[in-house]
Amino acid sequence: MALAHTLGFPRIGRDRELKKALEAHWKGELDEAGLRAVGRELRARHWQVQKDAGIELLPVGDFAWYDQVLTHSLTFGVIPERFHTHGGKPTLDTLFGMARGVSGSKSSQHSCCGSAHAQEMTKWFDTNYHYLVPEFSADQQFALSWEQLFEEVEEARALGHTVKPVLIGPLTYLWLGKEKGGVASETKNFNRLDLLERLLPVYGEILQRLAAQGVEWVQIDEPILALDLPQDWKNAFERGYNLLQREPLKKLVATYFSGLEDNLGLAAGLPVDGLHIDLVRAPEQFPSILDRLPAYKVLSLGVVNGRNVWRTDLHKALDILQQAQERIGDRLWVAPSCSLLHSPVDLGREDKLDAELQSWLAFAVQKCEEVAVLATALSDPQNAKVQAALAQSRAVQASRAQSPRIHKPQVQARLAAITQADSQRQSAFVKRIDLQRAHLDLPAFPTTTIGSFPQTAAIRLARQSFKQGKLSAAEYTEAMHSEIRHAVDVQEKLGLDVLVHGEAERNDMVEYFAEQLDGYAFTRFGWVQSYGSRCVKPAVIYGDLSRPQPMTVAWIRYAQTLTRKVMKGMLTGPVTMLMWSFPRDDISREQQARQLALAIRDEVVDLEAAGIRIIQIDEAAFREGLPLRKAQWQGYLDWATESFRLTASGVRDETQIHTHMCYSEFNDVIESIAAMDADVITIETSRSDMELLDAFEAFEYPNEIGPGVYDIHSPRVPDTGEMVRLMRKAAQRVPAERLWVNPDCGLKTRGWPETEAALVNMVAAARQLRSELA
Ligand code: GLN
Ligand code: ZN
Repeated sequence: MALAHTLGFPRIGRDRELKKALEAHWKGELDEAGLRAVGRELRARHWQVQKDAGIELLPVGDFAWYDQVLTHSLTFGVIPERFHTHGGKPTLDTLFGMARGVSGSKSSQHSCCGSAHAQEMTKWFDTNYHYLVPEFSADQQFALSWEQLFEEVEEARALGHTVKPVLIGPLTYLWLGKEKGGVASETKNFNRLDLLERLLPVYGEILQRLAAQGVEWVQIDEPILALDLPQDWKNAFERGYNLLQREPLKKLVATYFSGLEDNLGLAAGLPVDGLHIDLVRAPEQFPSILDRLPAYKVLSLGVVNGRNVWRTDLHKALDILQQAQERIGDRLWVAPSCSLLHSPVDLGREDKLDAELQSWLAFAVQKCEEVAVLATALSDPQNAKVQAALAQSRAVQASRAQSPRIHKPQVQARLAAITQADSQRQSAFVKRIDLQRAHLDLPAFPTTTIGSFPQTAAIRLARQSFKQGKLSAAEYTEAMHSEIRHAVDVQEKLGLDVLVHGEAERNDMVEYFAEQLDGYAFTRFGWVQSYGSRCVKPAVIYGDLSRPQPMTVAWIRYAQTLTRKVMKGMLTGPVTMLMWSFPRDDISREQQARQLALAIRDEVVDLEAAGIRIIQIDEAAFREGLPLRKAQWQGYLDWATESFRLTASGVRDETQIHTHMCYSEFNDVIESIAAMDADVITIETSRSDMELLDAFEAFEYPNEIGPGVYDIHSPRVPDTGEMVRLMRKAAQRVPAERLWVNPDCGLKTRGWPETEAALVNMVAAARQLRSELA
């Protein structure tokens, strides 16, 4: 009989209990025992809901106090020196210190200077989850240093559960880390892959301890098998797993987020007892995987999407599973595509969704039910529960296929009528820029900001009161107008050249627009962990998207009435809207991006008609949309670029289009950045000392650039000289007449005092640069 299992369950809790407990603990309002009790209760509850749903083998090790990669670092003793405590094992404080940094004052137990910066954080593959990057030194030693996994196995067994501990595999763990030099230098003088032989004995020890606890199966996650791997890493897989083979326990190697492709033979041939593959992201792996799988191996098929919110088409999934079962019989397991960490917890918690929409959705709990029912369907197709689930699934698919809420003839007609010309500005940049310069009359090195100004408590309160009905629409408008007046006033006094209205009315750069577009829905409890205690609640794209009415025009037009200077309109671009939402699974992402592009294009055109001469279309998520496999990059870049151009090309040549991207790696995508053909791009460069402009220089990026001259992530106020120095560096790479002066990103997380102080210096820097030109 096919076994139903999951690769991991969200730990945050359906009411974000873990978030709340962690934050209370960090504030000193909940002691460690209290925090541990919350964790224990969540684990017990999550095992039970999975079991009740019909999951037979329950994951342990998916719970983490902050991040599962960090838990592994503690387990292996990969604890950078700056977090070492005087004698003894790491504690929960060590763990939180590594995650959040340690400030001098409250850390007398820490060696060196008493303060330690947090470990670096970065995105977990192509998800919005962030993990803490392991730091390896050349003389790195590994030693079992953290008991959490064994304790949790014990805990689960005491509750009568059959469990499958989950480990990040040794190759993936090393891959995710970084080589660090000694204390002073951070230079890389060794290859972390060379640490494999030292690391493996700890895995051996863990497997032996788990075996002694009576565990039968362990899941070893090696998602890097779905990446383009260098040859030495491929070789290391064989070497490493040959060594691990000697250790006890049946091992299931789990891969997800992409297809195995060239690593299929390698993955299928590893000397382990089972392989999990993601058939949602990479359905083309089936049925070829059946031909490559050794006859002794279990094959776990991920057929329920662990990363989205839609109900599974059970018939489609069952069809694949039945084919597999015919070939491999009981060696077939059924699972979600990846850990359910990336999906919200429980749809049952939603109380405000309309019944129809709710019937289309599945969160983690419901996904477990789907996995279980599929497994049952294989052995007992006539089972009443199976029959009911299949009938319901058919009804859901039919209603989604036909619903007039989803399918909008007008949107589709517009999409069908798009021509090449629609994503083409009227003239080439060289001609546009002359018209724009005449139209805008800006000095050399024009100064601007990226859009948002400090989101003060008063602003948040006003927005909240309005939402709760405590402020009338008129009162709210006046509150926002007063914020806009303040922002404009400050910018006038500072002497900035291109002003912004400050984005006071926006809670979030995606949600603000999603709320005003048709085709988007919002959940109340659809939270997904982003990092640590941070959760995000992405909006859900459920239907064809359109803009019923202007979204920003009234605010921007008002702001423009307050000044003779140029007021820049501020929008979020189609790619970013898509990347930070739950997308539909019934049409392609490309199609959704185009729908978004048309909707936002309408706003661009309306802003122009309202007299706005510069419009910025933020694409913060453009680069993170890159697929994991290089072979798929171009396809993505083509439609992403095209969507941006479609958004931006409805205006006259005189109207200047800006875009903004807040990150720093452009080498890979510079060609597409240029193809977006924004008149001006503002980017994050201050922390890289302008080095990332090399990509723009090498490519001879043709349009204007505003390389950020100061880091907005910190309250530090850089002085004028520092910014002048950075701009001079920029001018070595990009002709001065094409440079703008601006911060790295929006200022909403900053306070007003440091914002004004920094901008005074920034404007002074621009003036100095101008005087040097003359
Ligand atoms: N316009 C947005 C702001 O200033 C841009 C934010 C972003 O790129 N993340 O807040
Ligand atoms: Zn930014």
